[in-house]
Amino acid sequence: MQRCRSLLSLASVLVLTTSVALAAETISLTVDATKTPQKLLKSHEVIPVKPGPLTIYYPKWIPGEHGPNGPISSVTGLKFEGNGKVIPWVRDTLDVFTFHLDIPAGVTQLDASFDFIEPDGNSATDKLTVLEWNDVVLYPAGIKAEELSYEAKLVLPDGWKYGTPLPVNNASGKEINFKPISLDLLVDSPVIAGEFYRAVDITPPGEPIHHELDLVADSAEALNISSKNQQEMTNLVAESGKLFGTRHYRDYHFLLTLSDHVAHFGLEHHESNDSRLPERALIGPGAGMSLGGLLAHEFVHSWNGKFRRPADLAVPYYEQPMETDLLWGYEGLTDYLGPMLAARSGLWTADEYHEYLASIAAALGPGRPGRTWRPLLDTAIGEPGLGFGGRGWFTWKRGTDYYDEGDLLWLEVATIIHRESKGQKTIDDFCQTFHGGANNGPEVKTYTFDQLVATLNSIAPFDWATFFHTRLDSTAPEAPTGGIENGGWKVSFNGEPSKLSGRRGTPSDIYSVGLQLGPDGSVGDSIVGSPAFEAGISSGMKVIGVNGRVYTHDLLEDAIKAAKDSALPITLLVVNDDYINTATINYHGGARYPHLVRDEAKPDYLDDLIKAHAAGK
Ligand SMILES: [Zn+2]
Repeated sequence: MQRCRSLLSLASVLVLTTSVALAAETISLTVDATKTPQKLLKSHEVIPVKPGPLTIYYPKWIPGEHGPNGPISSVTGLKFEGNGKVIPWVRDTLDVFTFHLDIPAGVTQLDASFDFIEPDGNSATDKLTVLEWNDVVLYPAGIKAEELSYEAKLVLPDGWKYGTPLPVNNASGKEINFKPISLDLLVDSPVIAGEFYRAVDITPPGEPIHHELDLVADSAEALNISSKNQQEMTNLVAESGKLFGTRHYRDYHFLLTLSDHVAHFGLEHHESNDSRLPERALIGPGAGMSLGGLLAHEFVHSWNGKFRRPADLAVPYYEQPMETDLLWGYEGLTDYLGPMLAARSGLWTADEYHEYLASIAAALGPGRPGRTWRPLLDTAIGEPGLGFGGRGWFTWKRGTDYYDEGDLLWLEVATIIHRESKGQKTIDDFCQTFHGGANNGPEVKTYTFDQLVATLNSIAPFDWATFFHTRLDSTAPEAPTGGIENGGWKVSFNGEPSKLSGRRGTPSDIYSVGLQLGPDGSVGDSIVGSPAFEAGISSGMKVIGVNGRVYTHDLLEDAIKAAKDSALPITLLVVNDDYINTATINYHGGARYPHLVRDEAKPDYLDDLIKAHAAGK
């Protein structure tokens, strides 16, 4: 926190000393991606300048990533020139993303070039690439990203095709010239490209705005999305229109990369999302679950996160630190609405939705002792630096719980709106008010906690501020399952494995003995206070034996079942560093997996919320 504040004051001083020319002058950017198979991109910029001191930035705080994650260590071969002569640079002593130059007299254009080396297994393979422009761009200090104009050109390997929301001026051969655009929209408009590419129109009948699924994969076979999944993705678009009542984009591209050799995640943008799944995700079992789990979430972000954004997350340029305390709104509400829309559109069945809710409620209650020392709000505030980082001890440390717990929180909000309005209003009414307004294309409308509460009060008067503060500040050991219960369901444990088994890492015996194990027996987590933890097992160890036999997960499951009817403990052989120890686990509760069961004393409002709402399907 201290470091961030000193950077902020450094930046404001630099604004006064910048020698960049007028913001109205366009910066030209050429990205040569022809060496993608070698994991190298070449970036060249021509920046209008005037003589004197100049500060150049490489983007640091990346929108949607909520942290100072710009891949600066991948920038190499950096070179600045003016009138054909090299201009020396020096990196800022407090910030590795900042470079200082002194532009000589007579120089009006700065040539800036560097190579971007793809981080291992990140965004490029032999056959495809995902280009996020913040990776390959430099920008002058002192001007807001929305006021800097860029004219970008991309050169692709021979024969590659591409998909992007970025407006194209003209394209010929392997060169694409894009229309001039502000830096913030450039960074907001990625490109996917590859040898195996397919565009699928998923615009619902009668919908005036074009929606497209752009697929790029490591094989032609992987592009064969089923007609059922295409229809469900079209339903998703229709359901989003029904939920929000308006859109805030010119057209929308789901940019989906299918590869086992890129990092798997999703990143939201106003007019697209950059989502990555394993190569065979669309042609194997569970395609609808994968599409609904990832793409629906990223799509919702176009309204919630990109259009409506917490004011302290909306920064004018990428060197200014973000404040992340409202991520339970930005990510939490998205994490509730995404699965809800996945179920409404048929990508998920009602059963899958129930199992999903049970899995997160269980993981956040008995599976999360860290909640007794670290309130939910702190998981949001701590995101930069603490978010996804670190291995092991996850259930004691907590991580990005503002996602999943935000899901439960906003489900409860949905049920309270229904209750307090006596069935007259729904979460859809809230979304249409909060995320509504004219479609002016991609724009940002910021909000504060008080404005969020005021909008909820306009839908259903209630003490929303106390409601949120209570849940955000809580250190109670139980997960907030009020939404599930208000919706007419309960979380219950039995010996039947979850139908979603594997979603959160397999195999899991977390609710019985307290262990989350990798396929080879390595201990991903051991819940603090659980029978396994009390027997001496913790993260980083490896289970190699079960009751005298070499470890397999089946044998461990057998042992857990057998111990239920026996006074004998479960004995595990465990490697710790290079010592082998015996852990004696006194657990006799049998296998335990979470599920949702109906509470017949209450109406089933939970399923009302996930029924198809859009007509004509
Ligand atoms: Zn998200």
